[in-house]
Amino acid sequence: MKFYSKLAKDIIPYTAGEQPKDKKYIKLNTNENAYPPTPQIKEVLRNFEYQDLLLYPDPDGTELREELAKIKKTSFKNIFLSNGSDEVLSMAIAAFFDEDDTIAYPQITYSFYDVYADYYRLKKIKIALKDYQIDINDYLGLDGKGILLANPNAPTGMALKTQEIEELVKNNKDKIVIVDQAYIAFSQGCSSIELIKEYDNLLVVETLSKSHSLAGIRLGYAVGNQNLIDALNRIKNSINSYTVNRLSMAVALVAVRDGDYYSDITAKIVATRERVCDALTNMGLFVLKSSSNFLFIKVKNACQVYKELKNRGILVRYFDKKGVNDFIRVTIGQDKDMDLFLENLKDILA
Ligand code: PMP
Repeated sequence: MKFYSKLAKDIIPYTAGEQPKDKKYIKLNTNENAYPPTPQIKEVLRNFEYQDLLLYPDPDGTELREELAKIKKTSFKNIFLSNGSDEVLSMAIAAFFDEDDTIAYPQITYSFYDVYADYYRLKKIKIALKDYQIDINDYLGLDGKGILLANPNAPTGMALKTQEIEELVKNNKDKIVIVDQAYIAFSQGCSSIELIKEYDNLLVVETLSKSHSLAGIRLGYAVGNQNLIDALNRIKNSINSYTVNRLSMAVALVAVRDGDYYSDITAKIVATRERVCDALTNMGLFVLKSSSNFLFIKVKNACQVYKELKNRGILVRYFDKKGVNDFIRVTIGQDKDMDLFLENLKDILA
């Protein structure tokens, strides 16, 4: 670790889900969308003026922000773009927290939050779930400076309703509340975006990775009061002015315009999720009520089950962490893949 900063030496980096190359797997481990992105993207790529790549992209991402603003019924001034929501979250923490500030988030949640808190040297309050769900009462009257929640939460997949988030935001008016809505497309009545008009302490973070089958272009965004967006831009312009590249912006633009295609595949994923959830319940398994594109399933010897599924070419996610190490997390794939998953799981458990 010669030449390492203290930060590089001490940090425990996030472990991303496996992307193995040894053989072709049915990939149900990183919550990518089960369906390809809109075919209109083929046209964009075919017609893309390659010479334009010699120019830097628009640092303000104006066209895409305006399009997102239309869809989210807000103004482009309320939208911030970056490379995937991971980067947006990281910049948000840099924008709204100082070293030694406290950040509160659930004990069981997206494990990147721990890494960000350490990276920015924050104090953490990790709040236990109740019956696997976030209880907003636990987040009222905290001494901490800010709150970070995934809604729906990961890896549980369970969501809070908009009214519950509003209650939380209303009761923490002098603190920032960041709501990570990576999986919101697969839920109903849970988005907090409409609240940003009323509350200046709420930042909502979303991504095209899951909802728009575009994990490969790394496009995430935040929606919030203009004051919050300005702070994010101050951070972005102090790290990398041209975060989002030309190709990603061109692809994202046609994707977000093709709402019909995405409503259709989202409905298919939700229908498959409900069918698979019922099948698992009928097998006598405990499955959390999911509002996302994955299921969190309790199984005996979860680690063994994960390994055996992998041997059979089906990749799911196992977390070696107290409280969740008796579960596997399974992304909702297309129906034929989910049937194979169910068949193999049944066989392994027998
Ligand atoms: N938030 C949550 C809860 C996630 O599960 C993920 C995906 N791993 C992300 C944010 C980041 O997604 P992306 O960077 O692809 O936008």
